[in-house]
Amino acid sequence: MAGYTTVEIGQTLLEMLERTAWQASPNEACALLLGEQNSNRIIITQAVVTDNVTEGNPETSFEIDPAMHILLQKAARVGGPQLVGVWHSHPNGVARPSKADREQSNEPGWVWLISAEQDHVFTHAAFWAPLEDSHALEPCSLKTV
Ligand SMILES: [Zn+2]
Repeated sequence: MAGYTTVEIGQTLLEMLERTAWQASPNEACALLLGEQNSNRIIITQAVVTDNVTEGNPETSFEIDPAMHILLQKAARVGGPQLVGVWHSHPNGVARPSKADREQSNEPGWVWLISAEQDHVFTHAAFWAPLEDSHALEPCSLKTV
């Protein structure tokens, strides 16, 4: 897959994620993203919100509940929707991956969707974990449909 990827997400799903972020604030909220992936496009169709189980400061870090990750991996293997990435919120308003996010990005091919909130306005941005270096998290184009 080339470095450039388009990510599509429905407006309703994005609004659900904003509400989830509000409820978790000032902590970061997180979810696993399900959908379809073809050559250069990722279509996010569902988000499964999990607890933020970080052992660090939840206002500046997150960790997906590993039990939910395993469950969804198993479901995908038997024909369920594919895991295409991860979403989390940045209550600090910065819509790009932190250093910790890059270090934590261990799934090549995943999309990282970040919803940053500042002064009650959300900015959403998508990044892609290249197959050759999942930590690189390259910006990609986010299309709301
Ligand atoms: Zn982050």
